[in-house]
Amino acid sequence: MIRAENLCHVYKSSAGDRIALDDVNFSIAKGEFIAIIGTNGSGKSTLAKHFNALLLPTSGKIFIDGLDTTDEKNLWHIRENVGMVFQNPDSEIVAAIVEDDVAFGLENLGIEPKKIRERVDLALDAVNMSGYKKFAPSKLSGGQKQRIAIAGVIAMRTKIIVFDEPTAMLDPQGRREILDMVKRLHAQGLTIIYITHFMEEAALAQRVFVMERGKIILNDTPREIFTNVKEMRRLGLDVPIAAELAERLRKKFKLPQKILTAQELAEALK
Ligand code: ADP
Ligand code: MG
Repeated sequence: MIRAENLCHVYKSSAGDRIALDDVNFSIAKGEFIAIIGTNGSGKSTLAKHFNALLLPTSGKIFIDGLDTTDEKNLWHIRENVGMVFQNPDSEIVAAIVEDDVAFGLENLGIEPKKIRERVDLALDAVNMSGYKKFAPSKLSGGQKQRIAIAGVIAMRTKIIVFDEPTAMLDPQGRREILDMVKRLHAQGLTIIYITHFMEEAALAQRVFVMERGKIILNDTPREIFTNVKEMRRLGLDVPIAAELAERLRKKFKLPQKILTAQELAEALK
């Protein structure tokens, strides 16, 4: 579904060049759920913007559904197939009424009003926000706003959704709501790319990319990534609490390696 080949991105400015993506290579299959983690400035958001050609490679290539993002005639198809959800819901919401906001992308596609209505209703239903159609987005909580932004993407029926730290500004309740949504979209067969600095969230993915200074330095299952506590610490990254606790308890108890979840830790201790 997605393939990057020697993907590089350099931001040029008068202050000098900044290499944000440095020879990145990967492929992502249809329907995969990928998490991307890494410290601030490691290149996660820059990579995110290459998935829908908001940024174009300085060198190398990225193919979305087989289409090269640098070929201008592919742009329409790529943008139709890749939805983006960013960190700050306030900067994503464009209309003064919830249902108009969800309809915005569809209106731009020139879809007929009756179909728009159907799709908006279904999308609001999917994010459990049907009761808020006529509300002003400004009256909603952060989690609700983020769900409206997700409804806008669902209404577009894209095959891929890229989330760039969608829960960073939310409280724990809002975070759970978004994670439930993401899991459901994945279960429906969408390809999910989920950038986060919450390791518990990344642990839900099928595969985790770890970025450092513009490179993907690790690409593996959450279990392999997060049970390597020493390496994560070296990179300045946390691990899920159960993995951390298991690592500490190993100094006193004989515990199996590669414990990732609270349940596995509880079983092992029992
Ligand atoms: P992350 O999302 O992992 O925090 P970014 O992709 O935002 O990382 O940034 C990667 C690097 O590129 C950082 O060093 C950052 O300062 C730089 N950068 C990001 N956006 C720009 C920009 N618009 N102009 C110049 N440098 C940028
Ligand atoms: Mg970022």
